[in-house]
Amino acid sequence: MNGTAPIRIAAPLQRSSRQSRVVWGNRVVTVGGGAPVRVQSMTNTDTVDVIGTAIQVKELAIAGSEMVRITVNTPEAAQAVPHIRDQLDKMGIDVPLIGDFHYNGHRLLTDYPACAQALSKYRINPGNVGKGDKRDVQFGQMIEAAMRYDKAIRIGVNWGSLDQDLLAQLMDQNSQRAQPYEGRQVMYEALIQSAIGSAQRAQAMGLDGAQIALSCKVSGVQDLVSVYRELAQRCDYPLHLGLTEAGMGTKGTVASATALSILLQEGIGDTIRVSLTPQPGESRTQEVVIASEILQSLGLRIFVPSVTACPGCGRTTSTTFQEMAKQIDDFLRAQMPVWRGLYPGVEGLKVAVMGCIVNGPGESKHADVGISLPGNGEAPAAPVFIDGEKRLTLRGEGIAQEFQRIVEDYISKRFGQPKA
Ligand code: SF4
Repeated sequence: MNGTAPIRIAAPLQRSSRQSRVVWGNRVVTVGGGAPVRVQSMTNTDTVDVIGTAIQVKELAIAGSEMVRITVNTPEAAQAVPHIRDQLDKMGIDVPLIGDFHYNGHRLLTDYPACAQALSKYRINPGNVGKGDKRDVQFGQMIEAAMRYDKAIRIGVNWGSLDQDLLAQLMDQNSQRAQPYEGRQVMYEALIQSAIGSAQRAQAMGLDGAQIALSCKVSGVQDLVSVYRELAQRCDYPLHLGLTEAGMGTKGTVASATALSILLQEGIGDTIRVSLTPQPGESRTQEVVIASEILQSLGLRIFVPSVTACPGCGRTTSTTFQEMAKQIDDFLRAQMPVWRGLYPGVEGLKVAVMGCIVNGPGESKHADVGISLPGNGEAPAAPVFIDGEKRLTLRGEGIAQEFQRIVEDYISKRFGQPKA
């Protein structure tokens, strides 16, 4: 310390907003108002395929999705929804389902009461509820269904399906200005007005404000930051955050992480979804893994034990430590659905797998359990550190398996419940 003030420790701000509740049976997921930032996801199965959809919802829930959205686009899909719910209940999966409605949601929610009842939340896109005179009536029918069945709603505005009447009206007003704003700024305004105006209309009809969440999704990082900063200033509804159509693979992951992290760090966003296009053959659960990692990296939530691994360099030419880091990481993730119940607090575990003596022992001492593998030219021995102290040294072919056993043993001793 140089006699100056201590360096401020960076931490994400907590967003204060009203809280909404998404309920199924005894499961209540609180959103906003000091609740943890929630992870959401969406299926990509045909909702008419009851078993296929139920299985994917289950996979997403087990991966950590706290709410799962499903498309409800046809009468057949609406008829399938209560059966999907039944299947999930039979499997012991109580994750709330959100129905994603466009164009005909008013009819489906009216004509299929079992669907309206089986869903825990309705996503309503004000740009797709109807045109002209029909818009307010059809929007009203969806709000009435939410009130009748006591369901939460999300007013989900999207850049790609923005209310064109509102946009045209705002463009018109803008052109009358002495110094018109940029077209993009008018678009931002239209997104925000559409979301907040729709929420206010719903409240004016009698829907409790605590049942409403908002989103204004766009596909550009800077656009999303601009829109949500303003949206958060203008209302206190819980906000669902996501970069729409983020894309595939690395691009989609990085773009989502960048956009969401900026806003979450500022305290904006109460639920998140990573809208990733799966690579061929990739599991849909990847979007849940990435969303959870974003929250865990920011220190907002802890879902799984963390594995610290060095990137490797010229000091270690073998891939042993890369394989071992992956093996341990995969093992910890795979065990979590069981360990969550068995070992409360295990998600806070820190494991280190390091490649050589330079940072290996130091980083391993900071972890709960760490191993420093030998680099080039080092003796073929791997010291293991437990709670900051060197406890033993592993040698030979089975180092990975032995280390895994040590980690398991540590977990059961530290996090296991004493037997009654
Ligand atoms: S710990 Fe060793 S192997 Fe890993 S990056 Fe640092 S110097 Fe390279």
